[in-house]
Amino acid sequence: MATIFDKIIAKEIPARIVYEDEQALAFYDIAPKAPVHVLIIPKTPIVGLNTSDSSDSPVLAHLLAVANTVADQLGVRQSGYRLITNAGVGAGQEVMHLHFHLLADPAGGKLPGF
Ligand code: AMP
Repeated sequence: MATIFDKIIAKEIPARIVYEDEQALAFYDIAPKAPVHVLIIPKTPIVGLNTSDSSDSPVLAHLLAVANTVADQLGVRQSGYRLITNAGVGAGQEVMHLHFHLLADPAGGKLPGF
């Protein structure tokens, strides 16, 4: 079943996109939990990191590279960012399409997670 993120990829619903290429999309989280809160997702329908396998390794590596690109673009690569993925319902995953939360506060505030 199509998730809300599939609909964002298909441009059926709007999102504040910050980066897009053939394999990946990054857009602002609708309910930000930090001054910078962007979601980085693959365009391929991987449910979560815990359901991925070695065939997904190239796209997973690409998503990590995209994190640096987005951090550069938003000016937080130097100050630093936190990358979180909730892999599975037991970890709090709500949208069943793999995503990395990129969280940053250039002012040095406390970020969610640990
Ligand atoms: P998770 O709990 O790890 O599955 O995170 C899902 C995230 O998706 C939450 O932080 C939501 O705020 C975010 N989210 C849900 N719907 C949208 C949307 N339409 N656009 C942007 N972010 C969304």
